[in-house]
Amino acid sequence: MQTLLEIKDLSITFEFNNQSVNAVKKSNFKIVRGECFAIVGESGSGKSVTALTIMRLIRSNSQLKISGSVIFEKKNLLNLDESNLQKIRGKKISMIFQEPMTSLNPLHVIEKQISETLALHSGLTGREARRKCIELLELVGLQKPETRLQSYPHQLSGGQRQRVMIAAALANKPDLLIADEPTTALDVTVQAQILELLKDLKKELGMALLLITHDLSVVKKIADEVCVMSAGQIVESKPVDKLFSSPEHPYTRKLIGSE
Ligand code: ADP
Ligand code: MG
Repeated sequence: MQTLLEIKDLSITFEFNNQSVNAVKKSNFKIVRGECFAIVGESGSGKSVTALTIMRLIRSNSQLKISGSVIFEKKNLLNLDESNLQKIRGKKISMIFQEPMTSLNPLHVIEKQISETLALHSGLTGREARRKCIELLELVGLQKPETRLQSYPHQLSGGQRQRVMIAAALANKPDLLIADEPTTALDVTVQAQILELLKDLKKELGMALLLITHDLSVVKKIADEVCVMSAGQIVESKPVDKLFSSPEHPYTRKLIGSE
């Protein structure tokens, strides 16, 4: 089992108006190559800020203190400069969000959005890029992908947009896909389809998945390892079957009980 990403003593604190909010308190976990690691916890427990920190989409400033380390390929991502980060972000580590429109541009057709990331990281252009776009859209199960290339996001359904966002995130075969509540905004049937898709892709591409959710039924379907977060703290961390068969922390028991 090879560790792909390791979080060590990660703390994230917001400071404003002489108040401070400890959004994450000394968090520690490891993601193994090719595995699905889930973070589960109720709203406000610090899941999204953890993900955004790994992607370095938020960073320390006068109102935000981030400490600890995020080790990926022997480097601490928290110390990398922007040019080195760009070699990782979107290429080795990609992220998808609850709402596809936060990462899709409403003004651009699907082909352009996927080709942009192909050009940036793989240098593919023109006909080759188009072929790769179609291949990616097929991979994520979009029907008749050639007819979708010139569609704008608003011309697609929520589930189709989610598939396109996943296709763009997978364009450069990342080693790690971070999915923050990827199915929360979808209706139940589409939710199940997208989860199935993520599970298949993980297997097919040998990609690790950091899955963030408030929903234990999602965890049960797809995770290998789980950590439970409550108020910024990891209260329990173990393989998924153990979590359900022998939950230890009262908060975990409460979550399982309310499911
Ligand atoms: P989750 O994703 O688990 O619902 P978040 O990671 O979004 O929770 O938020 C964790 C905590 O950090 C919450 O208490 C939230 O209020 C706080 N927080 C998040 N973003 C900001 C921000 N930009 N400014 C101040 N506090 C924030
Ligand atoms: Mg969140």
